[in-house]
Amino acid sequence: MFTYLNPEIRERLIDEGKLIRIDAEGNRIDPRAQPPADSISLNLLGPIPLPLGIGEFPTTVDWYAAVRSTELREVESLAGTLRGSGGQHLFSVLASSMAVNSVLVMGTPSETNQPLVRVHSSCLTGDVFGSQRCECGPQLAAATDRISTDPEGGLVIYMAGHEGRGIGLWAKAATYLLQDEGENTYEANRSLGLPDDSRDFSDAAALLHYFIGNRPIRLLTNNPKKIEDLSAHGFTKISPVKHVTGVGDWNRRYLTAKQAWGHRIEPEDLEES
Ligand SMILES: [Zn+2]
Repeated sequence: MFTYLNPEIRERLIDEGKLIRIDAEGNRIDPRAQPPADSISLNLLGPIPLPLGIGEFPTTVDWYAAVRSTELREVESLAGTLRGSGGQHLFSVLASSMAVNSVLVMGTPSETNQPLVRVHSSCLTGDVFGSQRCECGPQLAAATDRISTDPEGGLVIYMAGHEGRGIGLWAKAATYLLQDEGENTYEANRSLGLPDDSRDFSDAAALLHYFIGNRPIRLLTNNPKKIEDLSAHGFTKISPVKHVTGVGDWNRRYLTAKQAWGHRIEPEDLEES
């Protein structure tokens, strides 16, 4: 059967320890076996050195790509069907539908007492275009700066499927139009019949278990719900570290809505500088 990765290369990567599989608790399991049907498991590729230039301090991180085993298997099987029917031109549609999360490892967080972690939700407009309608871009850059210069090291977990707090880029574009008609970020989601926040942190928790184990972490976040969600997945030793940055005229209203929703943002954080 056709596989998304050439089977020989896949075998070689497994032999070299560069393609591994972990379960929901972060334990390594056999990447050649059928993935467990009753719980999540993730396939990881890496480490891949990536020299980053997004923050003030250039740094080279170890990048790991992570995808749910079941999702990957589905794509592999559909890719096989497509190849059989001459539909190779649809591979890109398949591949882009897969949520591939990233882990950026800085320093040696597997050996330190309380590494610094950022679980960052993907935001095309903020992270890539540098849009100031939100503060995602500056938060990501500041996180890599803070973690790469921290003596304890740590990691950024970049959640690829979290665009618009989980509603996707298309719906997020619609919420922006509604916001420009006066609704705030949460009201706009509700007007579209979408949840305030539909992000799932179980993959992030599995990755934390694998890279950090059972040790405490410091988490760069203003969002108490993120801590609750990770705790619910067994990651309980979390000390929040405030991460307010990139406040400006364009996003002050957005941040005020987040504050009202429970984010730990103080009134003075939102004052004009
Ligand atoms: Zn954003």
